[in-house]
Amino acid sequence: MQIKDKEFELFLSEQEIQSTIQRLAQQINQEYRGKEVIFVGVMNGAFMFVADLLRNIDFECEVSFVKLASYEGVQTSGTVHELIGLVNDLYEKHVIILEDIVDTGLTLDKVFSMIDADAPSSLEVACLLYKPTAFKGKHAPKFVGIEIPDHFVVGYGLDYMEYGRNTKDIYKLK
Ligand code: 5GP
Repeated sequence: MQIKDKEFELFLSEQEIQSTIQRLAQQINQEYRGKEVIFVGVMNGAFMFVADLLRNIDFECEVSFVKLASYEGVQTSGTVHELIGLVNDLYEKHVIILEDIVDTGLTLDKVFSMIDADAPSSLEVACLLYKPTAFKGKHAPKFVGIEIPDHFVVGYGLDYMEYGRNTKDIYKLK
């Protein structure tokens, strides 16, 4: 499959992705049923994962989305990070962050600490894909779909230069 200037080949089929998500949902259903739970999807990449996972969650829960906005500080040196989109009250709720992919884990660390500041009862992470060899973050995901080598992947929400998000399978760079 061609996206812009790059060639990609099939890596994970729709069937593998969907059965992985069913297994993750089962784990979460067992551990969280009866608790006050809010799922927080990280935009843009997680939109398909969130939609498919939530269709397999069988208890009453909230779902919301956040986006990590980064800009250069005017007076401070370095980058300022802001979490936008979250209006739900997280106090004393069980929060599960949903990420499409955890690579170095640095994005997740930022999202995690900003959500943690709202004093949830518990805070964990579920991700579809995890690159353990690239990971150098503080918060390892508790629920991991598939561990993958350090490939660049696209599809099923993940982009290459903002293209390629709209596929049912996941592809890797050839
Ligand atoms: P981090 O290195 O902070 O864990 O990952 C940051 C972000 O980089 C992820 O949320 C994801 O948007 C993007 N990313 C990391 N690895 C890949 C990859 O293999 N493919 C694509 N399309 N995006 C990736």
